[in-house]
Amino acid sequence: MNVIVRDILERKGSEVLLVTAECSVTDAVASMCERGVGSAIIAGDDGLPTGIVTERDILRQFAKHGTELGGLKVADIMTTPVKTATADASLQDIMKTMTTNRFRHIPIVDGGNLVGILSIGDVVKARLRETETEAESLRQYISS
Ligand code: AMP
Repeated sequence: MNVIVRDILERKGSEVLLVTAECSVTDAVASMCERGVGSAIIAGDDGLPTGIVTERDILRQFAKHGTELGGLKVADIMTTPVKTATADASLQDIMKTMTTNRFRHIPIVDGGNLVGILSIGDVVKARLRETETEAESLRQYISS
């Protein structure tokens, strides 16, 4: 079974938390907490990701700026450029990209639009489901 990103997004949905580069880190963190997500995307005029802020950035930047961090702009701490994947990418491709680049979030761009984001949690969940499906197929094959 070859799971692709499109399959995962069909279950998960296409919601992406967007914040502006001009908004304060305090506001971005509040939005992330409210939505229960570990990342926020900053999009350009074309709607495509130009920057990303994750929990890890907040942690690292807090170590650097302390309580001043909240007053900084998202633009001051976001990572750019953003690595994206297409909806046709395989689960394997996504795992490889996350491992190679040492990050846990990948926005998905399809047909020139931002159509979702995958976190490491989504990847683990999808891989678990894939493993269970494979095991079930093998059980049925053995008992048939
Ligand atoms: P994470 O492990 O996803 O929390 O991110 C670790 C670091 O990589 C942080 O500095 C993020 O801003 C950055 N990062 C996360 N995802 C991406 C991405 N898709 N493209 C570029 N940088 C990213």
